[in-house]
Amino acid sequence: MAEMTPMMRQYMEIKEQNKDSILFFRLGDFYEMFGDDARKASRELDLTLTTRDKDKNKSFEEKIPMCGIPYHASDAYIARLIAKGYKVAICEQTEDPAAAKGLVERDIVRIVTPGTVIDSACLEEGRSNFCAGIYLDGDYAGFSVCDISTGQTHVTAFSGPDREAHLQNELGRFAPAEAVLNPGAAEDTALRALLEDKLRCHVERLPAGRFQLPAAEKRIRQQFGDDAAQRLPRDNPAAMLALGALLDYLHDTQKTDLNHVDRLDYYRQGQFMELDLTARRNLELTETLRGKEKKGSLLWVLDKTKTAMGARLLRSWLERPLLSVSAIARRNDAVAALVKHTVQREELILALTGIGDMERLMGRIVYGSAGGRDMVSLKNAMDHLPAIRQQLAAFEGGHLRELGARLDPLEDLAEVIGRTLQDDPPFSVREGEFIRDGFDPEVDRLRGILHGGKGIIASMEAAEKEKTGIRTLKIGYNKVFGYYIEVSNSFKELVPETYIRKQTLVNGERYITQELKDLEHDILSASDRDAALEYELFTRLRQTLCDAVTRVQGAAAVVAELDCLCSLAAVAVKNNYCCPVVDESGVIEIHDGRHPVVECMRPDAMFVPNDTYMGEKENRAAIITGPNMAGKSTYMRQAALMVLMAQIGSFVPAKAARIGIVDRIFTRIGASDDLSAGQSTFMVEMTEVSDILRCATSRSLLILDEIGRGTSTFDGMSIARAVLEYCADPKKLGAKTLFATHYHELTAMEGTLPGVKNYNIAVKTRGEDIIFLRKIIPGGADRSYGIEVARLAGLPSTVVNRAKKILRQLEEEAGRPAPAVQAQEDQVSLTALSEGEVIDQLRRAQVDTLSPLEALNLLYELKKKLN
Ligand code: ADP
Ligand code: MG
Repeated sequence: MAEMTPMMRQYMEIKEQNKDSILFFRLGDFYEMFGDDARKASRELDLTLTTRDKDKNKSFEEKIPMCGIPYHASDAYIARLIAKGYKVAICEQTEDPAAAKGLVERDIVRIVTPGTVIDSACLEEGRSNFCAGIYLDGDYAGFSVCDISTGQTHVTAFSGPDREAHLQNELGRFAPAEAVLNPGAAEDTALRALLEDKLRCHVERLPAGRFQLPAAEKRIRQQFGDDAAQRLPRDNPAAMLALGALLDYLHDTQKTDLNHVDRLDYYRQGQFMELDLTARRNLELTETLRGKEKKGSLLWVLDKTKTAMGARLLRSWLERPLLSVSAIARRNDAVAALVKHTVQREELILALTGIGDMERLMGRIVYGSAGGRDMVSLKNAMDHLPAIRQQLAAFEGGHLRELGARLDPLEDLAEVIGRTLQDDPPFSVREGEFIRDGFDPEVDRLRGILHGGKGIIASMEAAEKEKTGIRTLKIGYNKVFGYYIEVSNSFKELVPETYIRKQTLVNGERYITQELKDLEHDILSASDRDAALEYELFTRLRQTLCDAVTRVQGAAAVVAELDCLCSLAAVAVKNNYCCPVVDESGVIEIHDGRHPVVECMRPDAMFVPNDTYMGEKENRAAIITGPNMAGKSTYMRQAALMVLMAQIGSFVPAKAARIGIVDRIFTRIGASDDLSAGQSTFMVEMTEVSDILRCATSRSLLILDEIGRGTSTFDGMSIARAVLEYCADPKKLGAKTLFATHYHELTAMEGTLPGVKNYNIAVKTRGEDIIFLRKIIPGGADRSYGIEVARLAGLPSTVVNRAKKILRQLEEEAGRPAPAVQAQEDQVSLTALSEGEVIDQLRRAQVDTLSPLEALNLLYELKKKLN
């Protein structure tokens, strides 16, 4: 192998320590990548691959492929690599190349990973970006997450046989972008599958040595202080281990102090409603099941926040519903006060509008990646605070007033930023011209020279003329002497002693003076010195802000919370929600409840409200029958969503509601997305059901939608019945259960099993047509109407008629009377799905509220459906 250049050797050494990252190697104005990194990057980023040092004839380097990107455009490239799951190690020149003797020193300044991006190009505004630390062994499970763009950190730990299930639920809750795992967690296939396949989380395995108690505790004390470390459990080491290793990893990759990571939230099992990933997805809390879109989710309905901080917090409220009546009441009372005081609410919302992302701006300032513009944005955000504080003080008491008292208006910081920086500073902080005029006399002087260099020379010329009486005195400039004073021979005797002769010309002399040389130096170096001085002042400002990081983050937290409360209040007013009574009664009682999302998705269609009553003893389990499309699933989800909304402190879509706190909501709904993972639908269904039966308590709410559907009728019916018996029986589970089934045979359980009640969703038949009334009524459905619905769905009439015949035969064989279906076998039915839909839509249309244009559109749409 031919010899490497010293620089290439330096590269190899650094690369050796960062094998799993793509190394961005700074060379002048470019980041260069070599070898495999270059191949990967050129493929992923569409860059041209070249080779280096051809002329030097060094065969080794000749073969090394390379590609590069301009350093100032690196953010976008890094974002693309991170999005594809790569890590990027950034290697900078750590000394001034001009001052370097020989090879310029270089070092890794930061490793960007999916869980540690701070650049806004890679981050979603209304969503936290978490990096998780996970510890799992035979006794304990520890879980921690940190969002380094905001500093927000959470940690918890579990023990006992269900520790891993709890751990998985926390992963579903926070959906981290990246996770560091101890060997015990990394070897757990179920956990890995959840992380990598379902959550699309980047996994880092760390060796066991990185999970050691004394070291972990030391790290935590350093980062969060002794008090925070003291609050962590001593009887379960997993909390400290998971958090300690995470902090370690963040320090290793970020190579900074992370001063803004200063608030630690330790929470215990039982503090928040636990939801497994299945329930989260089925209930479509933050995204829809199929499209993975926000539109159509509960968050979409509830999120009318005005700030990115509020949007992130509201999402986390949805991910973490509360279990404490008093904590819920605190939020709920605040929402109620905002609902009541329309003018104040509107004013607050107006004041919140336009507040920038203080949390992430502060994160970037601590990181040193913030520019003048970021600081001015922060100031603009701070400028809103005093007014908000005042508005909150006007509330009679309670949580809103407390928030106001807690809100640090940060006027001193806003003032410092405003005094230091111009209103609209340039992008770069390295080139000067962003410090406000009048802030620093030296900056003003340098800028004066910089902008007025010629003028200064002219006035010096005039002053010298005056002083010496030499009328022909001129100040000139050439490359050899710089500035000089020229005096013609006729005035030679008037030249003062302080003039130093430099050059003799035919008809005159050229001189310099100390003053002139000083000025020359000033003029020529003003630009550099101004840039350096302004940068220095900027770093001082940055330090002032860094020192106040806790205050800024505290104010940001108040803004975020207020924004969430205002959003919930605004939605409650707009959608006509009621304030629920939330208590420990164990009763769920909803009058005229509606599905919060369905009613918003189809605002022109009338949503039929329904009651729900579930008691501790009576009505503990409801068997809901009715044909497909009747509205069973909608009805059950609606109840679950209302419980959830009540427990985050929101109003609910109903006339009145009383919600007894529920510790967990479980769902088993429809076909799962796991087919791709190689499990059959039935297998998935049964796994989910067994998880539910194992983990649910008598305080849980169970939504079981058509259990047993994936297997043969008798198997399915038997399983469904056994499951329902288990859930409803107070000696076994005794949980509140909504149980939709197409086996209307199960309705026989009412009366034999205490607490079980039959309901069905009413339909009417008119001739061969089925009309959905959407109203839940007591009693079981008489039959399944499967054939009518199939016809509505457009199954060819020959098939429909044949099905009818077969059904009649089967029922006769079973000794039951055939239902009264008119047999008009040969008549071709024209009322396919479209007509049913048209009738449905007409019935629901609220003609009184339609504008003429909407009416015309509706008519057009109906007509189109018929064709
Ligand atoms: P099922 O589970 O009984 O098959 P779904 O709950 O899926 O029925 O509901 C079928 C359709 O009826 C859905 O498109 C839904 O939007 C609509 N729907 C359900 N309940 C109502 C209601 N109370 N008011 C208006 N439309 C409803
Ligand atoms: Mg359904």
